[in-house]
Amino acid sequence: MHGRDLFPSERDGTVAGMSASSPAESACGCLYVVATPIGNLADLSERARTVLATADAVAAEDTRYTGRLLATFDCRAELVSLHEHNEQARVPVLVGRLQAGESVALVSDAGTPGVSDPGYRLVVAAHEAGCRVVPIPGASAAVAALSAAGQPTDRFVFEGFLPARAKARRERLKALATEARTLVLYESSHRIVAALADLAAVFGPQRPATLARELTKAFETVRRATLGELAAWVDADPNQRRGEIVLVIGGASEAPASGAGITLAGALDALLPELPPARAAAVAARLTGARRRDAYQAALAHRSADPDAD
Ligand code: SAM
Repeated sequence: MHGRDLFPSERDGTVAGMSASSPAESACGCLYVVATPIGNLADLSERARTVLATADAVAAEDTRYTGRLLATFDCRAELVSLHEHNEQARVPVLVGRLQAGESVALVSDAGTPGVSDPGYRLVVAAHEAGCRVVPIPGASAAVAALSAAGQPTDRFVFEGFLPARAKARRERLKALATEARTLVLYESSHRIVAALADLAAVFGPQRPATLARELTKAFETVRRATLGELAAWVDADPNQRRGEIVLVIGGASEAPASGAGITLAGALDALLPELPPARAAAVAARLTGARRRDAYQAALAHRSADPDAD
């Protein structure tokens, strides 16, 4: 695949969705960031197979593991190991190959490289060398869990793994307790009981949450409950502590406004001299938690009781 791009864009006739490439980019080969299955091998996309089969080198977190994946579809790529302990030395070598016009596919053991996995440094170095970086999307446990969790998906935060040590974990959770967006966490099977107990203690046992375990595999489990219920369930059933786990936690109810404690009448007193009744009612409702219709009626009554109102 020397110096050549695999996927000319159907849309504009240029390469892989790029509308133009700089001179450095056209001399460079591509770095393909390839997602691999998180359990079910059928989730490896056709496009990922083609890239892995034709790249000049496949940079893999664990070459034996990826070698087995490649062997399932009869692919014999040159495998180069790239993990957190050799990244510093390996990244310049791989970038050198990209600059010489070769293509490199980056994979991790499972899911999307760089997401709680190695890859970030190579991606940055490829950009800095002026090479193109092309995602080949596919599985990621975080997004798979989120999609099936039944927790709000319009805004979410990915926190990766919580700290392993109890004190640091609780501190982190305290910092996250008022986060209003859905929270996605990776957790290991041997810490799941302690993590759920801490989550229930810090976020409150009533907080909605989903445990997604062994996604795409034989014992796939997706359970939506509250943190208190999940903690009790996992504590009571050792099978629920096996395998790989993602926690998806509903966000905190909106943090109380700094004006919490203000009454509706007090808010309207302050707002009506400045704003028309509908606007004052809307702001007062937001500040006090009152229903907007009630706030509007109170605003009208307030005004008619005030002879100075215009
Ligand atoms: N890069 C990967 C991705 O995109 O999903 C994540 C790698 S991270 C080292 C591994 C963690 O992802 C596991 O500890 C678990 O929390 C989660 N995970 C991976 N595969 C999973 C699966 N099949 N079901 C549930 N969680 C999974």
